[in-house]
Amino acid sequence: MSNPIIYDISNIQNVLVNSSLEGIKMLPFKVVIPVKVSEWRRCLDQINTLCSTKWNKKRCLDSKEYIFGETRQCHRADIYIPERDSRPAQKESKACGCNGALKIKQFKKSPTIVTFCMTRDHNNHVPGDRSEIRTLPLPFEAIKLIEDQLRSGSSCRSTRISVLQQIDSWGVGVRKPNYEEIYNRMKKMC
Ligand SMILES: [Zn+2]
Repeated sequence: MSNPIIYDISNIQNVLVNSSLEGIKMLPFKVVIPVKVSEWRRCLDQINTLCSTKWNKKRCLDSKEYIFGETRQCHRADIYIPERDSRPAQKESKACGCNGALKIKQFKKSPTIVTFCMTRDHNNHVPGDRSEIRTLPLPFEAIKLIEDQLRSGSSCRSTRISVLQQIDSWGVGVRKPNYEEIYNRMKKMC
């Protein structure tokens, strides 16, 4: 199944469908989504924010037909092996053996578009579930907001309040920054 619309950052959200969790979107399964080549990374960031997912690069796909091609796996892909002597303070693993896969390709015959296609669905976890949002990194746009606020001289505390207010409108599955993360970012910027 292919989609005649070429998506960009202004309308990429329209291709997403509702998940079983309120406010969380998901990629339609096995649907080829054409995206403007200059905006595919931003579109993927936006998909990750709205779907509460993160796609890590796994391997390159080589073919004479492609300018480039890659398979990405869900950030919860690895198999979790519990350690016998694990300390109680140890961070809970985000690995859960998810098989989710996203293929990203740019074909020589249509070099102005990049296509996304989720070829294997998530399993063993539900993206956007309250218990797993902590396993996600902060969205790129959130980091930008934090840095802009800090640069303008705002304290960590008021930066956090302001950023949380702005992030609130992005959706319910978005990872929120905690105080420590903002403090650490401030330290890095000095
Ligand atoms: Zn997954």
